[in-house]
Amino acid sequence: MDFRTGETISEKISVAGRLYLRWGDELKRDPEISARLEELSAGIKASSELSLRSGVSRVCQICEEEEGGSCCGAGIENRYSPELLLINLLFGVTLPESGNFSKSCRFLGEGGCILKAREILCINYLCSKLQKTIPPEMLLQLQEANGAEMDLLFVLHERIKGFIRQKAK
Ligand code: SF4
Ligand code: SF4
Repeated sequence: MDFRTGETISEKISVAGRLYLRWGDELKRDPEISARLEELSAGIKASSELSLRSGVSRVCQICEEEEGGSCCGAGIENRYSPELLLINLLFGVTLPESGNFSKSCRFLGEGGCILKAREILCINYLCSKLQKTIPPEMLLQLQEANGAEMDLLFVLHERIKGFIRQKAK
């Protein structure tokens, strides 16, 4: 099987799919990786709950629906690695074969981002409108939760890369 990294997002999605087919079950059974997956899932849940509580989700929804669109522009999907897409497959996310909107990121769906494990830029982005709208103490809490999510993601991403490197020898 061809596990080269891939250049385009479609190629990376294909590589992630092949990695999942070949090693998805083993990855889920690996005690270290399954523990990290659970931790990341909890971290993502904590930061998305804080997004809701702080009002970020509401402001972004208004921006999407009433002000002509979000910041999820075309091209951001290219930042995703096959391993990060593989983490989404391990979480049960279905990766899209094509985009919904020509001027937006491949992963933007009708109801927002379809991914569970997102790239650092996507986790960490707080536009100037959000910085002006959300109370500073909530922003701080959100930044802390986002920071924890990014740390967990980094550790898992590296573990999975190491796992694949070792298996592919
Ligand atoms: S982050 Fe800012 S620009 Fe992006 S959708 Fe939310 S409010 Fe709009
Ligand atoms: S949050 Fe999701 S839809 Fe938005 S740019 Fe990031 S990956 Fe794309």
